[in-house]
Amino acid sequence: MDMDQTSLVTEYPQVKDLMSEHPIFWRNPDYGQQAELPFSQADIFDAVARWERFAPYLATVFPETAKMKGIIESPLIRLDQMQAAWENMYHQNLAGKLYLKADSQLPISGSIKSRGGIYEVLKFAEQVAMRHTDLAYMDDYRVLATEKYRRLFAKYGVIVASTGNLALSVGIVAATFGFKTTVYMSHDARQWKKDKLRANGVTVKEFDTDFSHVIPQAREDAQKDPYCHFVDDEGSTTLFLGYAVAAVRLQKQLKDQHIKVDRKHPVLVYLPAGVGGSPSGVTFGLKMILGPYVHAVFCEPTHVPSVTLGMMTGLNNHISVYDIGLDGLTAADGLAVGRPSRLAGKVMRTLLFGSVTFQDDDIYRNVAQLMDTQQIVVEPSAAAGFTAIAPVIKNVPAFNSENATHIVWATGGNMMPESERLANYQKGESLIK
Ligand SMILES: *Cc1c(COP(=O)(O)O)cnc(C)c1O
Repeated sequence: MDMDQTSLVTEYPQVKDLMSEHPIFWRNPDYGQQAELPFSQADIFDAVARWERFAPYLATVFPETAKMKGIIESPLIRLDQMQAAWENMYHQNLAGKLYLKADSQLPISGSIKSRGGIYEVLKFAEQVAMRHTDLAYMDDYRVLATEKYRRLFAKYGVIVASTGNLALSVGIVAATFGFKTTVYMSHDARQWKKDKLRANGVTVKEFDTDFSHVIPQAREDAQKDPYCHFVDDEGSTTLFLGYAVAAVRLQKQLKDQHIKVDRKHPVLVYLPAGVGGSPSGVTFGLKMILGPYVHAVFCEPTHVPSVTLGMMTGLNNHISVYDIGLDGLTAADGLAVGRPSRLAGKVMRTLLFGSVTFQDDDIYRNVAQLMDTQQIVVEPSAAAGFTAIAPVIKNVPAFNSENATHIVWATGGNMMPESERLANYQKGESLIK
């Protein structure tokens, strides 16, 4: 340990557990305090309204969204068989009820990125259209799919840097509008994602370097071109608010399924965190819409606890997992981000209940169990929530109440090719004793 590390450990003893790659439960000491927040409920409803304006357009250009009338939303699924399997696997009784928020089934990217990524492209398209045409807010936005608008959008570019799912959501939608769309990816990004993007007319730029060097390159290239919009996964407020809309939709799903949220009926929500943008956006929405009795817990790999480290030390994006000697390696695709976003820790300071770190083997077991018990396919990152329940109820016995609801946010998986799906499943099966 160098001197900086020693003083960090003295001040925040759990940093030592992070350094040793032991799974931890961190309870946020600032949870529930009063704080000035950078957004309000009005910002969420502004985003809700924008999604609704675009719904007829989306239903037209993405036929798979037509049966939902262009509203991109995932089901909330009761996991009764998985709950029994989970209790066996963890030798732990779960008194409340277990649910899955299946963002793995969201159209277009098959992941939670369909919320933030698509929303940011919609907002950019609307801005361009409003500035250069007579488009009115009350118009039928299907007009945006016409040649006139495609010619307009073709003058503009969209750039995003991503290891995977964000590229799919931003890339496919931006290219569909007609924007010149470029995705910056590191060499280790999955081949099938690159292929799918290219098939949709997206330019894929591959880099031989670590992903942390790809983002600055993408940002720099975008800044050189005034007609180009850069989707900034490390701090975009638009992405953030796109994710927050999930809470408005979940409120209705909870009501429809007669799930209460009040002092006697706590709702725990378990969210995998990479850069921290999607779980923070969702959590912000949940706290604004559902109030004090919904509690969010972030889940991160023991090798990449970037958001946990940032929040625990208060250093947020000014510290990375490499600074405490971790290698940043994980099989959980969407979670391999060594430094948190500029927004996540700051907004979450008083809103996040706590976080949990897990070992990769643990997510594979849950991928296989979910397949065996409920025939639901998720990617490894998306099973992270299942690893957080046991540490949470062990540390907070009041949450292991029969009135509690536990929602595992399954963040992705539906676009995986069959071969990858099978390999993940077999790996999980081999780990289940
Ligand atoms: C991106 C992603 C996450 C994490 O979202 P962040 O905004 O990076 O924290 C989790 N799971 C999956 C499947 C993802 O694609």
